[in-house]
Amino acid sequence: MDRYDIIIIGAGISGLSLAHYCAGAGLRTLVMEKSGRAGGTLHTHRFHEADAGGFWIELGAHTCYNSYRNLLKIMEDCRILDRLTAREKVGFRLLSGNRLKSIPSQLNFAELLLSLPRILTVKKRGKSIEAYFSAIAGSGNFRRVLSPAFNAVISQRADDFPADMLFKKRKRRRDIMKKFTLSGGLATITDAIASEEGIVLATGKEVQAVGIAGESFTVATTDGTCCESAFLALATPAPVAARLLQSTFPEVSRRLSQIGAAAVESLGVAVKKEAVSIERVAGIIPAEDSFYSVVSRDTVPHERYRGFTFHFRPGVADHEAKVSRVCEVLGVQRGQLDYLIPRENLVPSLRVGHEGLISTVDNLLGGTRLFLTGNYFSGMAIEDCVIRSLKEFNRLRALLKT
Ligand SMILES: Cc1cc2nc3c(=O)[nH]c(=O)nc-3n(C[C@H](O)[C@H](O)[C@H](O)COP(=O)(O)OP(=O)(O)OC[C@H]3O[C@@H](n4cnc5c(N)ncnc54)[C@H](O)[C@@H]3O)c2cc1C
Repeated sequence: MDRYDIIIIGAGISGLSLAHYCAGAGLRTLVMEKSGRAGGTLHTHRFHEADAGGFWIELGAHTCYNSYRNLLKIMEDCRILDRLTAREKVGFRLLSGNRLKSIPSQLNFAELLLSLPRILTVKKRGKSIEAYFSAIAGSGNFRRVLSPAFNAVISQRADDFPADMLFKKRKRRRDIMKKFTLSGGLATITDAIASEEGIVLATGKEVQAVGIAGESFTVATTDGTCCESAFLALATPAPVAARLLQSTFPEVSRRLSQIGAAAVESLGVAVKKEAVSIERVAGIIPAEDSFYSVVSRDTVPHERYRGFTFHFRPGVADHEAKVSRVCEVLGVQRGQLDYLIPRENLVPSLRVGHEGLISTVDNLLGGTRLFLTGNYFSGMAIEDCVIRSLKEFNRLRALLKT
């Protein structure tokens, strides 16, 4: 049985950022990933077909900011900062019926002006998105504009999500452009980490059981691979971590099973530029529809293609119905969609009071050689994932010193 210092389950940005820190500290690090690629929700689909060579679209995350300081430090370590690419300034539009409208045109400014002073007195902490933003923008504005916009940001119904888990204030790095992607898309980051020295990435390895044998962890995959390690980290969605820890850490598992997750059914399409007549957009937010958002590649224009990823609500439309809706929104015929790429992501559905649950989980983890990272701790942004991984790495480093 192969032995490692640490096995990390899940090769999204959470697992890979933790792997980066561990390998940097000289630990023999194995990352086991069930899919055939690293990156998880950082999923840049790159086209290799002759006519679309060099074109890519994002099937998941699409934007990083100069406030992602921990992520930027990792990118510096991986020497990929020179691949930063600015996103061109094009706006988001609201979709009402089949018409694109500007966001301000849908706001009621009288209601906004009356409500906005409450921003000085109403606290985000302990409030849901609906409670906080209805208070400071007015309930009409919330229903018509903000609620659909938040649904689009977190790819799920956002009303009950904790308000303080979105749009965190972080110190910016002034030497870096405010918003960016990379030439080659965001998966350039996870590709670079996965190929770092000291990290072994095993793809196509779905972990199905975790055990403890004496001082070691054992990890078994569905294809019969078995490995062991001194430390173990789970960087999967919370429901997967809950299932894998059921017999070894039942109390941790019980708490994690209280964290919900929602599926997002995404469909990326590439269309020749001349086929699409809608204006250039960064993204489209529907008032009420079968999808939460459309993320466009118009922010990084390509000479031949335009690309759009529709993030659909789970279970409301089959493939054909999704394709029809894509065609209606883009104003194209089915035959004009040159490439269609489906993908499913899981997002955490957090609720007010979540930080209490996380502090219980952290107390249970204290003193153990088990580590948990992911996008269900303090927020879903890529930087939140890296911050959690760094926190867990610091706990591991302290254990190494004892
Ligand atoms: C549509 C969308 C757009 C977003 N846009 C942005 C954005 O622009 N900017 C931003 O900052 N954030 C964005 N986010 C949020 C951010 O991308 C995610 O929160 C983050 O990438 C999650 O990373 P993760 O590693 O925690 O989880 P994941 O990316 O989900 O990775 C978990 C990994 O674990 C693997 N896995 C699961 N089970 C097993 C198993 N049993 N064995 C082995 N491996 C397993 C999975 O295959 C996956 O690769 C977006 C999210 C979505 C869904």
